[in-house]
Amino acid sequence: MKCSIEGCPGEYQERRIVHTVRHQEQVIVIDGVPAEVCSVCGDVLLKPETVRRIEALLRTASRPARTVPLYKYA
Ligand SMILES: [Zn+2]
Repeated sequence: MKCSIEGCPGEYQERRIVHTVRHQEQVIVIDGVPAEVCSVCGDVLLKPETVRRIEALLRTASRPARTVPLYKYA
């Protein structure tokens, strides 16, 4: 599929990404999220069912598989 960014000649490719969301004042990192990523500008598209899946995960998530250090750019 062609990139939706105006003037970008890139195509979306199916990839697994690290997705970061802010949820109830917390930063949540989800690894291995399937997404369409533009090969040129890096624009990311998530399918509606992927977004629903993430929302369900956030609602039901009890304990994360792993925890990571979070650094703040200062
Ligand atoms: Zn693009």
